[in-house]
Amino acid sequence: MTVPAAIRASGLMDPFGRHVSYLRVSVTDRCDFRCVYCMSEHMTFLPKKDLLSLEELDRLCAVFVAKGVRRLRITGGEPLVRKGIMTLFEGLSRHLKTGALDELTLTTNGSQLPKYAQALRDCGVERVNISLDTLKPDRFKAITRWGDFGDVMAGLEAAEKAGLKIKLNAVALKGVNEDEIADLMHFAHARGADLTLIETMPLGDIDGDRTDQYLPLSVVRARLMDQFTLEDIPYRTGGPARYVRVAETGGRLGFITPLTHNFCESCNRVRLTCTGTLYMCLGQEDAADLRAPLRASSDDAPVARAIDAAIARKPKGHDFIIDRTSRKPAVGRHMSVTGG
Ligand code: SAM
Ligand code: SF4
Repeated sequence: MTVPAAIRASGLMDPFGRHVSYLRVSVTDRCDFRCVYCMSEHMTFLPKKDLLSLEELDRLCAVFVAKGVRRLRITGGEPLVRKGIMTLFEGLSRHLKTGALDELTLTTNGSQLPKYAQALRDCGVERVNISLDTLKPDRFKAITRWGDFGDVMAGLEAAEKAGLKIKLNAVALKGVNEDEIADLMHFAHARGADLTLIETMPLGDIDGDRTDQYLPLSVVRARLMDQFTLEDIPYRTGGPARYVRVAETGGRLGFITPLTHNFCESCNRVRLTCTGTLYMCLGQEDAADLRAPLRASSDDAPVARAIDAAIARKPKGHDFIIDRTSRKPAVGRHMSVTGG
């Protein structure tokens, strides 16, 4: 469907003057893993009847692209477990061909990459974020509960073979993988990949206590500086990570620090769930329903108006806090719903 010229605005701008040019789309809240910081082991997933079809997701993305979104990240849950997912990538790749989109990418746990890496590359995907919190198979099992380390290593190899650029993401977890940060960095840099470290965010109820998992990246950074020379660099990938160059390895290391350093002032993104709910901030409850206007008409104008109204109330930032007095999650949604 073509978007009428009237919808094509000069871009999406929020009340704080931030241009929204980046859309993350969670195509499913389901996953083949059960990472301890992300989900409880017995998750209740959204009823399948509430999900947007892949065609509807494609149509919504097209409206965002027409309104000035230049980068799309497909995420989840685990995006590659959604049935027929490659048809969505194939469809979205048309925006790369027209030049309307600068980048189509995804965040994945890597388990399905042996099957899909080449097809993703063929759709114009140039880089992928693969989550990897440990290099120890037993520990990997303890963190992901259902994951298999060998599958992810095979996925990594398949991605490399397909010519995809790789960024590894690791959530820094107190008492779990804090002794492996340097090893993860060496592993990534030896393969020519960046490594980005993430602080655990208080999203959704999990089985454990988050204060037990939270490891401030300011502490990790200070520890690394005892062993390595970290040089701040202006490199950006469009996300919230701040990067350093590690002199000893020559590689890049990113820090995503929602807790110790709030990065909301430069936020350029919004997040769409698989049910068509648009969250203007990962850390706030306010949301806009885009499914109703999408289904109400084959005309895209009502959806476009709903997007404008949503962006007009994008909040200034989140209020994440993890300490012993605030044990409840900042928002009830799990990361797998809104998409990491
Ligand atoms: N399943 C895919 C994966 O794991 O890469 C994509 C979705 S996952 C929700 C996206 C990212 O969010 C992963 O890197 C994961 O480690 C991270 N994540 C999940 N829950 C988190 C939390 N509570 N705090 C910080 N990061 C989290
Ligand atoms: Fe699944 Fe990703 Fe959440 Fe782990 S972090 S449970 S792989 S969605």
